[in-house]
Amino acid sequence: MNIRFEQAETLKEKPQGALGFGKKFTDYMFVMDWKEGKGWHDERIVPYAPMIIDPAAMVLHYAQETFEGLKAYRGKNGEVYLFRPDMNAKRFEKSNERMCMPSVPEEMFVEAIKELVKVEEAWIPTGEGESLYIRPFMYANEVALGVDQADNYRFIIVLSPVGAYYPEGVNPIKIYVEDELTRATVGGTGFVKCGGNYAGSLAGQMKAKKLGYTQVLWLDGVHRKYVEEVGSMNVMFLIDDVVVTAPIEGTVLAGVTRDSILQLVKDWGYKVEERHLEIYELMKAGKEGRLQEAWGTGTAAVISPIGELFYKGEKVEVNEFKTGELTQKLYDTLTGIQWGDVEDEHNWRVVVK
Ligand SMILES: *Cc1c(COP(=O)(O)O)cnc(C)c1O
Repeated sequence: MNIRFEQAETLKEKPQGALGFGKKFTDYMFVMDWKEGKGWHDERIVPYAPMIIDPAAMVLHYAQETFEGLKAYRGKNGEVYLFRPDMNAKRFEKSNERMCMPSVPEEMFVEAIKELVKVEEAWIPTGEGESLYIRPFMYANEVALGVDQADNYRFIIVLSPVGAYYPEGVNPIKIYVEDELTRATVGGTGFVKCGGNYAGSLAGQMKAKKLGYTQVLWLDGVHRKYVEEVGSMNVMFLIDDVVVTAPIEGTVLAGVTRDSILQLVKDWGYKVEERHLEIYELMKAGKEGRLQEAWGTGTAAVISPIGELFYKGEKVEVNEFKTGELTQKLYDTLTGIQWGDVEDEHNWRVVVK
């Protein structure tokens, strides 16, 4: 790839204090364009700035858009790491295929991220739990209102310094089990990381919020019976010493964190079941005290312990609303690997520089 670099006239002040999540952005962004017959071209790292978009650009009407999310970490020795970026590249590939969008080859995807992160390495925050969130995304940029696959696309990467997702530390969250609205069905786009899925799931999120819950737990779209995932996280349960999570069958997003956590618990000798788990079975296990721990997994928060489930007017408390032992160990181990403090047995860490 031949990346053109355009120098910014002025650089921003680096943020002080609490960073929050996805509120501040760095000085530069990576951009490239795709055109039918020409492929990817004009790869560039340019000053971060608002862009001009035609009101009839297809993405604004038919939501042909996909994205990814990963982080860059600063190790204590000064090295900069990514965590399994090849997994994000492969998932992006699958998302783009399903959405009839052009492929970004894995090497190109990872190289673009590395080059941008190198330019912006001074933006990688070094406070406890802080990292540089990386958001690659692509959208249909053709100007036309006919419903069709677009003939030109733009791929962009922006970077955002982020704090620990929960500033008070890892604490249990309350989960609302949505029994009416659904997020995905087999054959649909549940496995795709696309804006459209999120637009469709906001109503559930708002219902949860109104009732004082942090996140929605989605049930399957056909029976509203089987546990799928939580908002922007996969979800796992420790029931009778077995780790149970939904299978990857086209409705649930194949999280990189999910995959890593399942590997860790297998390494530690836990039995793992990727299977359909009925909400009734889950609530029953909770009431009988067999639901030992529950947690969500995703790049942003890493691990979110779940302290309460609310389904059809019934509440179940998990582990007395305390972070479970396994949940805490998973958080400590995974973040340890990501920041370079724990041995990386599976070669998940990628050194940027
Ligand atoms: C991104 C995402 C996840 C988590 O995936 P990670 O790769 O672990 O960050 C889970 N569910 C949905 C719907 C997502 O968009």
